[in-house]
Amino acid sequence: MERRKVEGVRIRIGGVVQGVGFRPFVYRAALKLGLTGHVTNEASGVIVEAYGAPEILSRFGEHLRDQPPPLAVIRSFEIRGIPGDPALAEFRIAPSRQGEAVEVDMARDTATCEDCLRELFSPGDRRHRHPFINCTNCGPRYTIIRGLPYDRERTSMAGFPMCAECRREYESAGDRRFHAQPVCCNRCGPALQLLDGAGKSLQVRDPLAACRDKLEEGAIVAVKGLGGFHLACRADSEEAVTRLRERKHREEKPFAVMVRDLEAVRRLADPSETEGRLLQGMERPIVILPAKSPAAGIAAAVAPRVTTLGIMLPYTPVQHLLFEGASYEALVMTSGNRSEEPIVVGNREALEKLGGIADAFLVHDRDILLRADDSIARVLAGQSVLLRRARGYVPDPLPAGCDVNGIVALGGILKSTVTLGKGAMCYTSQYLGAVDNPETLRNLEQVLEHLAGILEVRPESLVVDLHPDNPTRRIAERSGLPVASVQHHHAHAVACMAENGVEDDALCVVYDGTGYGEDGTVWGGEILRAGRSRYERVGRLGLVPMPGADAAVLNPGRMALAALSTRVGEAAREACPWLPEAEKHAVFELLRAGLHCPLTSSMGRLFDAAAATLDICRSRTYEGQPAIELEGCADRTERGEYEVRIHEEAGTLVLDGVAILVDAWHDVRKGTPVSRVSARFHNTVARMTALAVGRLAEASGLDTVCLSGGCFQNALLFEGVQRHLAATRLKVRVHRILPPNDECVSYGQAVIAATRRACGQVPG
Ligand code: ZN
Ligand code: ZN
Ligand code: FE
Repeated sequence: MERRKVEGVRIRIGGVVQGVGFRPFVYRAALKLGLTGHVTNEASGVIVEAYGAPEILSRFGEHLRDQPPPLAVIRSFEIRGIPGDPALAEFRIAPSRQGEAVEVDMARDTATCEDCLRELFSPGDRRHRHPFINCTNCGPRYTIIRGLPYDRERTSMAGFPMCAECRREYESAGDRRFHAQPVCCNRCGPALQLLDGAGKSLQVRDPLAACRDKLEEGAIVAVKGLGGFHLACRADSEEAVTRLRERKHREEKPFAVMVRDLEAVRRLADPSETEGRLLQGMERPIVILPAKSPAAGIAAAVAPRVTTLGIMLPYTPVQHLLFEGASYEALVMTSGNRSEEPIVVGNREALEKLGGIADAFLVHDRDILLRADDSIARVLAGQSVLLRRARGYVPDPLPAGCDVNGIVALGGILKSTVTLGKGAMCYTSQYLGAVDNPETLRNLEQVLEHLAGILEVRPESLVVDLHPDNPTRRIAERSGLPVASVQHHHAHAVACMAENGVEDDALCVVYDGTGYGEDGTVWGGEILRAGRSRYERVGRLGLVPMPGADAAVLNPGRMALAALSTRVGEAAREACPWLPEAEKHAVFELLRAGLHCPLTSSMGRLFDAAAATLDICRSRTYEGQPAIELEGCADRTERGEYEVRIHEEAGTLVLDGVAILVDAWHDVRKGTPVSRVSARFHNTVARMTALAVGRLAEASGLDTVCLSGGCFQNALLFEGVQRHLAATRLKVRVHRILPPNDECVSYGQAVIAATRRACGQVPG
């Protein structure tokens, strides 16, 4: 008998290849093609050695590269020939090796897949109603890992030894749970428990059914989820939702709702195709949708004063089971935290912190190792934009464009994230919250430590915001490592540039609430000519005093009076007739004395002033509220606008936002409906921006424009600016991976610091 020619290949695959069923996939492919050899996880990726006939080996390689499992993302694929090994008789999965540098990406947490849902609701299935059902293609990942390579022993499933049947599935190549690390069943998996408001076990046989009953009755239940606890109550009960608001001390900020299925969503809103795909995607973010009016079965207290609803579909088995046979179609599902603190993850922590809020607790014994809130997305200009990036999206890395290894960037102040550099990639954390809260600051340090541990990166230098009182500066200085500072809006600009692979200088429009400026004023309506290591401020909004500083942020009426007074003086007293006389008096006293009135070029504050001038929003109970309500009331068919005024001051373009405000004020006083005035205000700001950018582009010869900053979460502004710029030769780049708000700042900081390091600039 003629011996067949046997050759070998060694394949190294990097990217998201662990925890996504890659080894079983390789194994099945090899088996089908009759190859011998082995596959193993190493810290640097998946390594395959296969032996067989040359033409079969090349088919095998192509198959691995071109048809990976659904959750895998291949970032590198190297294949080379090795000598054949005809002695091998089989193909096997070898145990993971440890020890060398970690280069693989961690997989994301993923919504329960269709196959698992089918089993979950099949009475004959051995995982019928198993609250922790998962498989190779779905389930928890990022929030349960302790280290890499990704194996059960390095997850919080380590304490749950598989039963014989689960082990059989885990070990058989034909099974869809072959090497699924979190595999478990009713016999061997974690278990649910229902506790009363004081934390005492209710000793019920079916905790889920009992929990549903409680929800039906209008109770508030703290439910342990994937990245933390939720506070849940039925969304159709005005009484329950109001009680939740009172207990959580949350005045008007809209609650997100979880809705049974897409059909039920359609009773609340009309999702477009893109929105429908986003709702049903494996990341399962909260999607901000224009709500039907009235949205049937949603209490008014869920989202007061706004025209949108934040909606998500169930993404864990427990959540699916909470809707099984229930009379409600929608539950309020809000982050389980005390206001402003990080989301609660531990059972004891939940009892302690949510004790006064929840009437009952649905807990389980699988630990959440990393906090991750629900992500929030919105479709703007036809494409999805993240407003909060957390569960389901992290920890996908972003390109740095240069060596960023060892650089740790600590982000902004309000919507903070941290970014860790490894090689040429940036790992930007999930949304962490406002670091002026001590608990959030502590969580930021924990996340950083966890990420650095998993990725095996030793921090070499730190980057913080320029702001002298930035709380993260203290952490940085305590570390003893070199600390660099980066201006807030420069970080925004470079985040957008780097995300889009823009290498050369670009014009960057950064509109947000607040950022510490180099000249001591509060910046926030900036046009920068930015490169990756330096920038020049080439345009800005005209300056307006903020009477009482933070008091002016919380009270948009103050901003309105202050802004109008810069143009019409004392006559501005006539604006905002609803504002108490004493308050007006205080504002004008501060303005006259010039005391406690920092100057700002912030676009966010201009929107605040407009919301107050139009009497849309009288007080700000959550970040962005005035602008959100101003956008919400705008008549989208209105095309009118006011005059655009731009002048030059010492080589910088000054965009006259106050002139638009004055025109809008006169317009309201003429009796024009606020819906039209609001639209005209938005239209004019958009056109003013595009005109300024056009002039700057012409003068500089630059051809790329980047848009960043929280104000670009406003659909009218974002779409308006893009529409105007689309008519020019300019290339417009926007955020596609990170949110445009301050969550992108740490990424920009890391890239700037890395670029400066590469150029040999000392940190400063
Ligand atoms: Zn599944
Ligand atoms: Zn089992
Ligand atoms: Fe910002």
